[in-house]
Amino acid sequence: MPTCLYCQHGNPPHQSDCRQCGMPLPALAERAGERRQRRFLWFCITLTLFCVTMFFWLPRSIV
Ligand SMILES: [Zn+2]
Repeated sequence: MPTCLYCQHGNPPHQSDCRQCGMPLPALAERAGERRQRRFLWFCITLTLFCVTMFFWLPRSIV
């Protein structure tokens, strides 16, 4: 049972907003944060692969 962070009112499961004050419940906020975290992880992986590819692909000049 998700409890509202703002008014501590208990809400039924699968409820997106608090029934008492209308603020978004923590369960959905956590899920959104998790999705954002996964997107950030994929961004890091892509960036790393790009850097490695460029490191081997670009010609290196010896100074
Ligand atoms: Zn509330």
